[in-house]
Amino acid sequence: MSSHDEGIEKMIRGDLWGLEAYQPIVPTDVLSERAGIPIKGVIKLDGNENPYGCSPKVKDALANYPFYHIYPDPDQSEVRQALEGYVGVGAEHIVAGAGSDELIDLILRLFLEPGDRVINCVPTFGMYPFCTEVCGGKVVDVPRDKSHAIDIARVKEEIDEKTKVIFIASPNNPTGNITPERDILELVKTGKVVVVDEAYYEFSGVTVAPLVPQYENLIVLRSFSKWAGLAGLRIGYGIFSTVIAEQLLKIKQPYNVNLAAQIAVRESLSDIDYLKSTVRAIIAERERLFDKLKGLKFLKPWPSRANFILCAVVKGDAQMIHEGLQKKGIFVRYFDTTLLRNSLRISVGKPEHTDALIEALREIGGKHSA
Ligand SMILES: *Cc1c(COP(=O)(O)O)cnc(C)c1O
Repeated sequence: MSSHDEGIEKMIRGDLWGLEAYQPIVPTDVLSERAGIPIKGVIKLDGNENPYGCSPKVKDALANYPFYHIYPDPDQSEVRQALEGYVGVGAEHIVAGAGSDELIDLILRLFLEPGDRVINCVPTFGMYPFCTEVCGGKVVDVPRDKSHAIDIARVKEEIDEKTKVIFIASPNNPTGNITPERDILELVKTGKVVVVDEAYYEFSGVTVAPLVPQYENLIVLRSFSKWAGLAGLRIGYGIFSTVIAEQLLKIKQPYNVNLAAQIAVRESLSDIDYLKSTVRAIIAERERLFDKLKGLKFLKPWPSRANFILCAVVKGDAQMIHEGLQKKGIFVRYFDTTLLRNSLRISVGKPEHTDALIEALREIGGKHSA
């Protein structure tokens, strides 16, 4: 790579030149090639995606839609109206994005001036620090306690006049636990912008969305990626006070929600009983997977309210288990950071995925932890 002090490079923002790239998901075809296993044989438990896919109504509607040559609605009227009933707050409080990831970026663009601080309760979702740095903000990491709960007193200690935003994923990725409403409200009372990321809400059933109209600095983010099986179409939304919603609608790209995503929201919400049945299947499978993992003496699974389970490898090497699974075509997330040592995050799949995973873990774990 060329140095930053010559040619075109020196015109690139110095803070971005030094920024580390976000570590995104590896596409299935790449995983399949890496393992030397055909795509159909790959068991993908690394992205918290819905193994049952989207509603069949989405596929039918997308196949038959005649107007892809026309721009989508910049006001997102249909999407916001449809979400009003689902969320239980007025459409004037709702803004949709190309995934909730886009809304994380837009919120930070709206609030951050260079050098402003953002509180990040680690370990947590990597997009918060990434987007903060792209927006010129400063990330302040506040470690969670041993049970992965947010240390509210420490967060409050870190707040100063430069602090603008506090991120709380609930359930948290990758730890799976929720943050109680009273803790969230304690932070809301500081007056800073509190973003509660409920990407896994449908699996936890716990939300603070109904409180948004009462607190102008409380934001709730949701997504269709995980529960509704639409990760590939990029559609998420946020629930905001009307002041923030108006400003976000003003600064967003006009056509940020594409037509396919708009149609997918409509069809998903019209097929809610089907989608809820797949969510119920995943929750039941999560509990079965948890018990099976607990039965393996070299793993310590953490209870989860989401569609994944974090496991500490208490005997043996998580990286070797990760690689051993990969050779068998089973993909999970591997972590080894200061806050998350020797750990794996396993997305909940179908029952047959659990069975294949547990069988593979028995084989590998037996070898490496002996
Ligand atoms: C997966 C995930 C998201 C991303 O959602 P998209 O709508 O796909 O952008 C947001 N927050 C958390 C905590 C996630 O795990």
